[in-house]
Amino acid sequence: MHPGAEEPELSIVVPLYDEENNVDKLLSRTIETVRALPGAPSYEVIIVNDGSRDGTLEAVRRAMRSQPHLILVNLSRNFGHQLAATAGLDIARGRAVILMDGDLQDPPELIGDFVEQWRIGFDVVYAIRRSRKGESRFKLLTAKWFYRITRGLTKVSIPVDTGDFRLMSRRVIEALKQTRERHRFLRGLVSWVGYNQTGIEYDRDARHAGNTKYPVSKMLAFAIDGITSFSEIPLHFASYMGFIASAFAFVYAIIVLILKFAHRNYPGYTSTIVTILFLGGVQLIGIGILGEYLGRVYDEIKGRPLYLISDIERS
Ligand code: UDP
Ligand code: MG
Repeated sequence: MHPGAEEPELSIVVPLYDEENNVDKLLSRTIETVRALPGAPSYEVIIVNDGSRDGTLEAVRRAMRSQPHLILVNLSRNFGHQLAATAGLDIARGRAVILMDGDLQDPPELIGDFVEQWRIGFDVVYAIRRSRKGESRFKLLTAKWFYRITRGLTKVSIPVDTGDFRLMSRRVIEALKQTRERHRFLRGLVSWVGYNQTGIEYDRDARHAGNTKYPVSKMLAFAIDGITSFSEIPLHFASYMGFIASAFAFVYAIIVLILKFAHRNYPGYTSTIVTILFLGGVQLIGIGILGEYLGRVYDEIKGRPLYLISDIERS
């Protein structure tokens, strides 16, 4: 940290993982937008290099030679989008902090609208995806259902069709810093914090270059993180299924006993197999749900740091 350096008004945090062909455009569009803001606020751009294996690091260093106010945070390895973003938010010193993706799917030009709402007095300004370009139908469909299922399952009301692209005030950032859970679902945590929140709609662009870093497996893991972090309903679901299955079993047992005493029971291969399979399935689902929560409890209780920084470079 520069000794005596003043806290900037705005921090822009961008986690990057293998985005070498996006860096130049990302930084130029972002800085241009911030410089054109009314009142010419002071700013810093924090780039979190999340263990990139391509030329991202070199591309950022090249940009740092001509651009001031850039802070490059190198993590010790790839920690994943949510943790890389957390590292950036922890380091940001601005009175308002903007988090955005580094693939230009989140247009930096929206920062102007964010800051306007923040100056009106909002603590969180999130960007709602009115449309999404360049995404597969599968991603559109799964994303749509994910947002709606999560909303149905969670007690905290998390806005739908909203990613992590948003502005947060200093007090929201300070509150977020107190939540140190590992399986982070940042957008949920921000909703949980509360204060005055508002959303603005935008059209999400296609990726400028490179490929998505969220394959189906990671999307699924992220979805389960979101649901388990903010809801206990799946745990109750296991008990409900248990009660329903027991009720059925009880009624069925009475019927079978009556038939037996009436000497009308026939050997039932089909019913035996169906019952075993059904109950086996219900039990495994129940154990699976328990496992999801238990695994997370285990992970949290180890209390490891969320990420490790290898070094910080400033321009
Ligand atoms: N990202 C990261 N670490 C990862 C995966 C992704 O820092 O392990 C960054 C990535 O470089 C991008 C942002 O997180 O800036 C969002 O990732 P991506 O665009 O791949 O996700 P999508 O938009 O496809 O959901
Ligand atoms: Mg993207």
